[in-house]
Amino acid sequence: MTEIGIQKSEKPPQFPLPLRGRVRVGGIERSSLAGLSRKELAEALRAINVEEGAIKMRVEQLWHWIYHQGVIDFAQMKNVAKDLREALAAAYSLARPEIATQQVSVDGTRKWLIALPADNLAQKSHHVECVYIPEQGRGTLCVSSQVGCTLNCTFCHTGTQRLVRNLSASEIVAQILIARDDLRDWPPERGENRAITNVVFMGMGEPLYNLDAVTKAVTIMADGEGLSISKRKITVSTAGVVPQIEKLGKGTGAMLAISLHATNDELRNQLVPLNKKYGINDLLAACRAYPGASNARRITFEYVMLKDVNDSVAEARALVKLLKNIPAKINLIPFNPWPGSNYECSDWERIERFSEVVFNAGYASPVRTPRGRDILAACGQLKSATEKLGYRARTLQAE
Ligand code: SAH
Repeated sequence: MTEIGIQKSEKPPQFPLPLRGRVRVGGIERSSLAGLSRKELAEALRAINVEEGAIKMRVEQLWHWIYHQGVIDFAQMKNVAKDLREALAAAYSLARPEIATQQVSVDGTRKWLIALPADNLAQKSHHVECVYIPEQGRGTLCVSSQVGCTLNCTFCHTGTQRLVRNLSASEIVAQILIARDDLRDWPPERGENRAITNVVFMGMGEPLYNLDAVTKAVTIMADGEGLSISKRKITVSTAGVVPQIEKLGKGTGAMLAISLHATNDELRNQLVPLNKKYGINDLLAACRAYPGASNARRITFEYVMLKDVNDSVAEARALVKLLKNIPAKINLIPFNPWPGSNYECSDWERIERFSEVVFNAGYASPVRTPRGRDILAACGQLKSATEKLGYRARTLQAE
């Protein structure tokens, strides 16, 4: 008895995935299964008439090959019956979104500019960036959750780009697949010693404005039968969308990072305009209540060092006072300049003095070494290359 009614035809069955999940393979538009949840994979199997009783087992097989082995060809799925492999290949693909450009910094940081299909055919494709930062004993992938951003933080380059759209969960997950492909970070080549050990949602966009997709993506990433990136190694950074913080903790169990950057509302209103809606007191109350926060699972507070704006010793003391009774880590980020920015990075002595106050108060206060500045891959610089590419793409089209 065959479990599938294979109908070989030129046109693959129409599977109700959003348009943005589809890719063209050999001139035929096929939905990609890469990035989907178990439930969606089950639907994809039903759409090609896989027998109901076999769905669960087949989903587990697909899951293993897609997320544990990272295969990009159904033919490699050795334990899947040949007729099913053929039916899958006729209907679907395992393609990832297209890499528009890729850059490698002198310090080993890598940045991929990824082209995503637009919302409708009248628009051109959108671009998001994804950055890999190798460090001693670990490697962090910084992923984007939106194309552009609506927050308009005054020191952030991404903020000057208008929001184009939210990413789907599969587009968020696909960033990991793309990076693992490129870093050859799949077994058997890599074994247990993975290049990507940590994921941070610190790329383009505000993850808590796209919480459903982020939650779904974290669940897929953290699944032990697949990508297997532990929830403790996944950090979601927010500028402070207070009403969503508890939901994030309950829905994902991910680590939380807060882009604080100022110790009083007046200054924070200027730097992070979202603060006018949710002030520092409310934000810190949400942090105190964050599900699962403890000394072993601290909340990271990011603080960008802006010359003569927020970098005084008095502010360092105020920061320490503010975070009292919160299991916190403080991450000082030297400001990364971008073309047209109105700020400068604090002098090094000033950063050191600030860091000393924080350290003396009992916090590890690592100063985040700027990585990938030469390829504009550092915090807050994610935009320029998109614009450059936009320009290049336009000129190429015109030629
Ligand atoms: N919207 C989320 C996710 C972005 S994370 C958030 O705000 O947390 C990107 C981090 O880099 C944030 O802490 C952001 O404030 C910081 N950042 C933005 N622009 C920067 C710049 N030019 N230099 C250094 N850090 C910057």
